[in-house]
Amino acid sequence: MTDQLYDPSLGLQALAHVEDLAALEDWRVAYLGRKSELMQAFGALGQVAADKRRETGQLLNEAKRQLEQAYEARKDAMSRAALTAQLERERVDVTLPGRPLPRGHAHPITQVIQQISDLFRSMGFQIIEGPEVEWEHYNFTMLGIPADHPARDETDTFWLTDKMLLRTHTSPVQVRSLLHVGQPPIRVLVPGRVYRNEATDASHEAVFFQMEGLMVDDRTTMSDMMGMLSYMARGVFGQERKTRFGCDQGFPFVEPGAQMSIDCGVCQGAGCRVCSYSGWLEILGCGMVHPDVLRGVNIDPDRYTGWAFGLGVERIAMLKHGIDDIRLFQGNDLRFLRQVG
Ligand SMILES: [Zn+2]
Repeated sequence: MTDQLYDPSLGLQALAHVEDLAALEDWRVAYLGRKSELMQAFGALGQVAADKRRETGQLLNEAKRQLEQAYEARKDAMSRAALTAQLERERVDVTLPGRPLPRGHAHPITQVIQQISDLFRSMGFQIIEGPEVEWEHYNFTMLGIPADHPARDETDTFWLTDKMLLRTHTSPVQVRSLLHVGQPPIRVLVPGRVYRNEATDASHEAVFFQMEGLMVDDRTTMSDMMGMLSYMARGVFGQERKTRFGCDQGFPFVEPGAQMSIDCGVCQGAGCRVCSYSGWLEILGCGMVHPDVLRGVNIDPDRYTGWAFGLGVERIAMLKHGIDDIRLFQGNDLRFLRQVG
């Protein structure tokens, strides 16, 4: 060893066969590590003859420099190759078309509520909501339906206590708004869920939606009511629809009461199965607010008049889309919902 010169070419050759980072580390330990032949040669410098020592030291330093340089170059090349491989592996093809996101839409009931709300909002109405759990007092008594009134038997109700119930209509919200707003002018529209304790079939649900509207102002008239309701009906069913009002006392706490029909859009009024061969479809009940109701909320009926209407949201959606079973709305069947976009 002392006489022999250290030759780095063996190490350099071995380096050419190193293929990965683990092998590279093994190589470093073997050729540049503390126990490597090179380091041992440095350690043995003291035993070299004095006149040769300087030259041997220079040669060893040169060998070490070559090995270290080769090691760094190899390491650089390997990390560059690894990076290139990773980039290649993770390459994003920006020319691929994106995955389409399924686009949903509002439930048909929500669509009708939104559409009618927009139409009345454009006429200065305020949209308000109220509690679904209601006092008997607001649901019946304040609307002129005392405990012994036959209308109470007609609407079978979900009672929670002997004074509290699930509201059977949205009318109590009108009473609440009259009490809250105080004096006219009043223009409110009340959409919401209502409950009836009854068996379900193609045209009856125990849970359904109503919308009611109320306007009280200085002598607002039946003409105002007919004009605004016709505007709404044409907005929902098409500008070419005709409307017709007939006498009817089906809607509570109004006098006189009326119902509004539109001409059947399926047969254009000629008569078909949808309109029961009458050419007309009844879509809502309405009328002038009874003076007693106004008095009950401290509004002077000699100065102010009011009109109100109520409609079933499901019925409007059924007529609009030609749906023949009310239960489909709560059936949660996407095949149905996708068709009613
Ligand atoms: Zn028809």
